[in-house]
Amino acid sequence: AAGKVMVTGGAGYIGSHAVLALLDAGHEVVVVDNLVTGFDWAVDPRAVLVVANVADDAAVRGAIRDHRVHAIMHFAGSVVVPESVADPLKYYRNNTAATRSLIESAVAGGVPHFIFSSTAATYGTPARVPVQEGDPTIPINPYGMSKLMSEAMLRDVAAAHPINYAALRYFNVAGADPVGRSGQSTVGATHLIKIAVEAATGRRDAVSVFGTDFDTVDGTGVRDYIHVSDLAAAHVAALELLVANPADSHILNAGYGRGFSVNQVLDAVDRVTNRTIERRYEGRRAGDPAELIADNRAILAALVWQPRRDDLDTIVTDALAWERTLAERGR
Ligand code: UDP
Repeated sequence: AAGKVMVTGGAGYIGSHAVLALLDAGHEVVVVDNLVTGFDWAVDPRAVLVVANVADDAAVRGAIRDHRVHAIMHFAGSVVVPESVADPLKYYRNNTAATRSLIESAVAGGVPHFIFSSTAATYGTPARVPVQEGDPTIPINPYGMSKLMSEAMLRDVAAAHPINYAALRYFNVAGADPVGRSGQSTVGATHLIKIAVEAATGRRDAVSVFGTDFDTVDGTGVRDYIHVSDLAAAHVAALELLVANPADSHILNAGYGRGFSVNQVLDAVDRVTNRTIERRYEGRRAGDPAELIADNRAILAALVWQPRRDDLDTIVTDALAWERTLAERGR
């Protein structure tokens, strides 16, 4: 075999779906995950699991050598925006500094391709909607800044060393593997669709709606929700692009180019479950932009990739099925 793809954070939500997409496409995979927020049972048994921090140079360099790693997909990191405001150094450690170590290990180990989990939070309050990759990046929280700093390192390292990269700027990731192999298992999740399906399955009694006075279709915040399996497939396509054109790197918005308001999302959950979740209308959450939608023309042009589950009810249906699986398993 030609060696493996290293997936950091492969025991987590998006990473575990990327592992499935890679395996389904015939790649071999080695996961590096410290299992702080991930779960060993979320890693497909066809993958090798190395339990280590991505900043553990000895463990990472050993895995690169032993598994002849030819590409790294880097999902590991901390992802809760309000936590990043309260504890910024955790984000500069787990995201920026850990990524610096991992890139150094990649260069030292001669790994030619690197795919990075970036975020629409790098834009801060976007200059315009839909937002384009070349628009100003002025993060409004440490989470977004920690990821933007990682993008800057990749840009500079790719200019100096034989490595190319794709940074995918994720919009709002939701849903679960359509055949039920993985999903969002995060304890104490803060993301809207996860919270809504928790309410729909009786794990919580209501959903708070943060802000009703935004300048949007119905006053609630609008986001571009992308199905996690489409996002995982985009990573596999990005790997193929990096291999085909080793001189070129890419920063790409990963979204569908359309938005739904909080109320529209909750309407979809009510529709899919044929129930009515209680909504508690509350004030705005700090740092929430009114509207965040991807201009996705660049990713559609660059990758051999087509969204397959770009329908809000489909996303909610898959998220709900996984939530029921978690409940059945007592998790
Ligand atoms: N939101 C909400 N109630 C919740 C969680 C989120 O009204 O319990 C809103 C939030 O204010 C934003 C949208 O839903 O307008 C998406 O928020 P989420 O935390 O899912 O993702 P973010 O866009 O902050 O990355």
